[in-house]
Amino acid sequence: MTNNTTELHDLTVAQLAAHLRERKVSAVEAATHFLARAKNHASLGAFLALDDNATLAQARAADVALAASPAGQTPSLLGVPLAHKDIFVTKDFVTTAGSKMLAGYRSPFDATVVAKLAHEGVVTLGKLNCDEFAMGSANENSAFGPVQNPWDITRTPGGSSGGSAAAVAARLAPAATGTDTGGSIRQPASFCGITGIKPTYGRASRYGMVAFASSLDQAGPMARTAEDCALLLSAMCGPDADRDSTSLDIPAENFSRSLHASIEGLRIGIPAEFFGEGLSPDVRAAVDAALAEYQKLGAKLVPIVLPRTELSIPVYYVIAPAEASSNLSRFDGVKFGHRADQYTDLIDMYKKTRAEGFGDEVKRRIMIGAYVLSHGYYDAYYLQAQKIRRMIADDFQQAFKVCDVIAGPVAPTVAWKLGDKSEDPLASYLADIFTLPGSLAGLPGMSIPVGFGAGHMPVGMQLIGNYSQEAKLLNVAHQFQQATDWHAAKPEGF
Ligand code: GLN
Repeated sequence: MTNNTTELHDLTVAQLAAHLRERKVSAVEAATHFLARAKNHASLGAFLALDDNATLAQARAADVALAASPAGQTPSLLGVPLAHKDIFVTKDFVTTAGSKMLAGYRSPFDATVVAKLAHEGVVTLGKLNCDEFAMGSANENSAFGPVQNPWDITRTPGGSSGGSAAAVAARLAPAATGTDTGGSIRQPASFCGITGIKPTYGRASRYGMVAFASSLDQAGPMARTAEDCALLLSAMCGPDADRDSTSLDIPAENFSRSLHASIEGLRIGIPAEFFGEGLSPDVRAAVDAALAEYQKLGAKLVPIVLPRTELSIPVYYVIAPAEASSNLSRFDGVKFGHRADQYTDLIDMYKKTRAEGFGDEVKRRIMIGAYVLSHGYYDAYYLQAQKIRRMIADDFQQAFKVCDVIAGPVAPTVAWKLGDKSEDPLASYLADIFTLPGSLAGLPGMSIPVGFGAGHMPVGMQLIGNYSQEAKLLNVAHQFQQATDWHAAKPEGF
């Protein structure tokens, strides 16, 4: 038992796990506490599904395992509650992917990432709001309403993993899963002042993640600290070739081991293109201050160029919709999900089902995707985009010849007001400029809180590593968090 349950939600994953191991709190008590918080703060819109019975059954099982596990050998996440982005399919909870198309859908199986975390004894608190099929940067494309940013409820938490970021920032969950196709872990983490990591493409299995753009989609953890992300990512990664053919054949790794290494002599690449005209001065000031802190820690700043940064926007917004148009063809009203009530024949059923089930942004992307893949336009758009994608990846390899990690802003501005970009998709696409290059190259990237900008909104700094350098990124982030306390800042009222 803990004497002060009001502070349970302020513990990090690592601290809560220690409390569970030391029997200061039970898994059922922890789950009950967070479920109550999720309900008390329902107006944030972070959760799409809660099921006390399912959560408490998992928590009771964790308590049995805790009681049976010998001291010193307890798995590090046993009994820790966590919530999943509603893009991961789950047996125990409905999965919607933020779409009316999947309202009420229950999967017969758990996504690999969900199953792997459950295997470590993680207790699922529920499912978190997100942009429809993970398409968006503000969580305003969810069919079930937007999410509010706990730092200022009139602002977006970012997207598409907006529910994940808001829930962690508001202490409704100690941690959450997210997915990142073009920035959806890093940008909401930045907007909500939390820490998130997107691993190298292929390190975490995509099996059971509702597909958006399969050559880009990656799962990762969102938590308050790099230390917590390391614990969670260690459980989430690993080969899954039987079920995801793009899964990398790299064994699971204990990312917590390298956190404490010194970063003396670390070479941090500073891409000129990430600090140009479009970057707002408040974000720049916070990122510059963080870089100065890194210099104090013994790191060296190395100027680099990523000359095709601007092209990453058109390239991504050709490739991602192309893959989406293909992936989303499965929602035809036959196999699962929504089906129109009234129709005259099969074609009419397809048309009405898809017209009713998909939101505007999803329809826009299906149309763009079908267009760029169509005969006569494939060479002009899709093939060109693929070629430039390769060049963007090559540019990073040039850069990594002279630096160990790359640093820059996550987004050009702090979180904007809800509604500000919702009528202007292009404005929202442009705000993805700093996260898209790493996504297109398949590189690991993370966001760490480095201060506050306009409106006292959190600013995140992005760290990009070379392939499979997650341990290095987490180490670099952890060393910063040992020297600063931006990650400990807490929104008022939570
Ligand atoms: N904002 C980008 C988009 O709308 C990225 C989304 C994501 O990473 N899932 O596609």
